[in-house]
Amino acid sequence: MKITGIRMYQVDLPLHEGSYKWSGGNSVSVFDSTVVAVDTDSGLTGWGEVCPLGPAYLPAYARGARTGIAELAPQLIGLDPRELGVLNARMDAAMRGHPYVKSAIDMACWDLLGKAGGLPVATLMGGHVGADFALYRAISQDTPQAMAERIGRYRSEGYTKFQLKVGGDADTDIARIHAAAAQLQPGDVLVADANTGWTQHVAMRVVDAVRDVNVYIEQPCMTYEQCLAVRRHTNRPFVLDEVVDGIDMVVRGLADHAMDVINLKISKVGGLTKARQIRDLCVSAGIAMTIEDTWGGDIITAAIAHLAHSTPDEFRFSATDFNSYVTVAFADGAPQRKQGRLAASREPGLGVQPRMDVLGKPLQEWR
Ligand code: MG
Repeated sequence: MKITGIRMYQVDLPLHEGSYKWSGGNSVSVFDSTVVAVDTDSGLTGWGEVCPLGPAYLPAYARGARTGIAELAPQLIGLDPRELGVLNARMDAAMRGHPYVKSAIDMACWDLLGKAGGLPVATLMGGHVGADFALYRAISQDTPQAMAERIGRYRSEGYTKFQLKVGGDADTDIARIHAAAAQLQPGDVLVADANTGWTQHVAMRVVDAVRDVNVYIEQPCMTYEQCLAVRRHTNRPFVLDEVVDGIDMVVRGLADHAMDVINLKISKVGGLTKARQIRDLCVSAGIAMTIEDTWGGDIITAAIAHLAHSTPDEFRFSATDFNSYVTVAFADGAPQRKQGRLAASREPGLGVQPRMDVLGKPLQEWR
């Protein structure tokens, strides 16, 4: 099987709740997502997607993804998309860094590998573990009262894991965590995600003030060293996210006992191939994972579902169903949340069929 062409589409994904706010005064109301189709001489087409959380979250942005895909795509024509090691080596040789640029192409080639073999991606990654898996719900930054009230509403939708967007003023964040914790029921999980927004001294104040609260602390500060200082100071379970941008950071974190959980985002590490490598390392090392991406629609939610569903349950801390956060559906067959849980398709590949009436014409294509 050979790649004969690559097509690139753009789709706007507005949020049901109007906007999503996190640390540093950042917010997004319409997500700019890029969809890639990889065509082959077999007649099969694979689909991938990449959707950075605006330009200020990670070193990634939507137009950068498209510029990078335009750079890489012509160099991949003729490769066998099923040979994911060869494909990734070619992408890494052709472009240093920029993992998010490579993510949608790698994802589309996993879709093709599954379709070619007649197997779901989750089967190729280890198999569907259990019937489904639990999701978390992100709670956009707001007043302590408004954030706490949302826990009840999201619980009524079936969620039991809640991630508060903090990373602002210390006193307000302490109030947010306490107000949210007061709403918890037995078995609920609460995470306070600062998204790098606290300076180290602010983080020290917050973690001290919540040391008796049933809460996880996620990515308090900008750098790994600052996070490690906070980690060594707090008794709360600790999650690293933004600084874990590849397997080398996982190895470093393991050596330093720097985290209990990582947040594994598919595009942050360069696609499903590298995300699976990190997933397997974390399973062997006993580190649980939130499995997700920087945002996205139906295709990314399907890719998350396959990676998460094939992960042992005790290491599957949570995952995200981004397609329920946005108002636009652009693929049939995408997984749909039921009672706060999600399951990967049993169809070959990712199990999604994009709706061309929604995607429209490609922005660019290469043959
Ligand atoms: Mg996070």
